[in-house]
Amino acid sequence: MKHTTIILIAAMALLCGSASAQIKKNAKVYICTGKNAKTYHLNRTCDALSNCKAEIKQISMAEAIKKGRHLCKNCKGNAKK
Ligand SMILES: [Zn+2]
Repeated sequence: MKHTTIILIAAMALLCGSASAQIKKNAKVYICTGKNAKTYHLNRTCDALSNCKAEIKQISMAEAIKKGRHLCKNCKGNAKK
């Protein structure tokens, strides 16, 4: 019984570890759906996003990268702060 508990705890820890790695990819980002938009944003309140004349959509970071988007310079700078 004791062994099972230890294995369970280890498995849980492993699962949690891989889950946290996935959270980043599944993190929600914001994109402007305008034709010229090539970036994604971490913050809905980003200055660059406020210039968006099209629709602002919330998608996953993985999806944004798949679309060929790259992180907005503004958001990148804010993340470093
Ligand atoms: Zn931004």
